[in-house]
Amino acid sequence: MLEIKNLDVYYGVIHALKDISIQVNEGEIVTLIGANGAGKTTTLRTISGLIKPKNGTILFNGENIKDINAQEIVKKGLSHVPEGRHVFSDMTVLENLELGAYLRRDKKNIKEDMAKVYSRFPILEKRLKQNAGTLSGGEQQMLAIGRALMSRPKLLLMDEPSMGLAPLLVKEIFSIIEDINKQGTTILLVEQNAHMALSIAHRAYVLETGTIVLKGTGKELAQSEEIKKAYLGG
Ligand code: ATP
Repeated sequence: MLEIKNLDVYYGVIHALKDISIQVNEGEIVTLIGANGAGKTTTLRTISGLIKPKNGTILFNGENIKDINAQEIVKKGLSHVPEGRHVFSDMTVLENLELGAYLRRDKKNIKEDMAKVYSRFPILEKRLKQNAGTLSGGEQQMLAIGRALMSRPKLLLMDEPSMGLAPLLVKEIFSIIEDINKQGTTILLVEQNAHMALSIAHRAYVLETGTIVLKGTGKELAQSEEIKKAYLGG
């Protein structure tokens, strides 16, 4: 579904992504793990068309989307839940969800998807009229995920969905991610919580200072001594 080949990204003179290649097959959860500053967010932002790479190809369902703008990429079925959630605080929960569907014209299906979001996140339905800024961190994360689902993505990019959440909520968010995947959405997940990410991922890549240094199945990497030492607390 997604194939990134030999991608190079620069911020001025900083070479943030160095010749990286990543593949995500339909139906998979693939995770990208790595320390702070490794280039995980840059990878997702480049796929979404928010940053333009210097070299490389980004094939989405066989089409090179490297030079396509971010809005067109969403229309093609690729949606991004950004790091830090970025819900619109002064808008209501309902308005935030509606914004997720603003590129769509299929009103009937939008209604259906809204109902699906409510059944997945009952708390959001309870808070529809409330401003998003009044929600707790976990609820805001749910809203950010719900908003992304409202574009009916085939591929969902998620940037550190567990960031800043209490352990119980982290578990809940990961189980929601697994469930969204089981319902048919392919997922590329960026996480610092390597333990949880590897436990739900079919395959994983490890990014270090802009380079992919390791890849394998979630299980293989969770058992690797190198990974245990560097990312799983020994
Ligand atoms: P984090 O978990 O902290 O978000 P990350 O793995 O997502 O880390 P990136 O945010 O992608 O890492 O950053 C990769 C590198 O690019 C870092 O060295 C960072 O300092 C640099 N960088 C990121 N954004 C910019 C920017 N807008 N301008 C210049 N350098 C940047």
